[in-house]
Amino acid sequence: MLPERRCLECGDVLHGRSDKKFCCDQCRNTYNNRQAGVTFSSMRRINRILKRNLTVLNGLNKKGRVTISRDELLKKEFNFSYFTHMATSHQGRTYFYCYDQGYALVDANRVLLVRKREQHP
Ligand SMILES: [Zn+2]
Repeated sequence: MLPERRCLECGDVLHGRSDKKFCCDQCRNTYNNRQAGVTFSSMRRINRILKRNLTVLNGLNKKGRVTISRDELLKKEFNFSYFTHMATSHQGRTYFYCYDQGYALVDANRVLLVRKREQHP
């Protein structure tokens, strides 16, 4: 005997097609809306971190290119785990970007901040 299938939303026993996941449209909509909510809340959380990182970099890199200590970034709660994209220079240095503000780790303590306009390096 096949295992009993149940509605993913309300848990009612499902009848009919074996690919059915919900007992009714209402349950499907409720479930899908909640899943979308989870997705959007994690997007909002990450967007907040990226925005904060961008604000920190904008504040420290007014001239478009500057070398600072890693501590200065950490003091301002810069989050090294989040960035929008990466690029490698001709010299083989990896830059991490938060939108148009990028940084590269020069050594254990120093970070080079660069700003890119329009195009990627
Ligand atoms: Zn249901």
